[in-house]
Amino acid sequence: MQTVKEKIAYLRGLLDGSDSLDAGLSKSVVEKLLDIIDSLADEVDDLALDHEDLEEYLEAVDADLNELEEDFDDPMDDMIEMECPSCGEMVVFEEDFVYDDNVTVNCPHCGGVVFDGGEWDNIDDDMDEDEDDLDDDSEPF
Ligand SMILES: [Zn+2]
Repeated sequence: MQTVKEKIAYLRGLLDGSDSLDAGLSKSVVEKLLDIIDSLADEVDDLALDHEDLEEYLEAVDADLNELEEDFDDPMDDMIEMECPSCGEMVVFEEDFVYDDNVTVNCPHCGGVVFDGGEWDNIDDDMDEDEDDLDDDSEPF
C-alpha cells in the first residue's frame, strides 16, 4: 500500500509531466487527491481515538499519582492518636512505633505510659483468634 507521501509524489510527477490537464487527467488527479484526503481523514480519526485513550489513561495515572502524593505529603497519615489512660489527653505518635516491640510512648502531659510495644502485641494476638492463640497456650508462661 502506498503511503500518502508516495501518492502525492506520484501526483506531482503526473502534473510535471503534462503541460495541460485534459478532462480525463483532471478527473484522475482529483480522484487521487480525494483518495489522499480520505487516507489523511482516516489517520486523523485514528489519532483522535488514540489521543482520547491516552488522555483517559493519563487521567487515571494522574489520579493515582495524586493519591500517592497525598499519602506522602500528609504526615498525619502515619500518625496514631491514642487517649492517655492516665490523664485522658490525646497523644499523637508515629504509626511505626506500633510495629516496634521495644518502643514505649509516654504521655507528654502527665508522663504516663500511653503505648507499650510489648503490650500491644498481646492485644493484637487476642484479636485474631487462630493458630497464634494455640501457640501462646503451649508456651510455658
Ligand atoms: Zn497523660
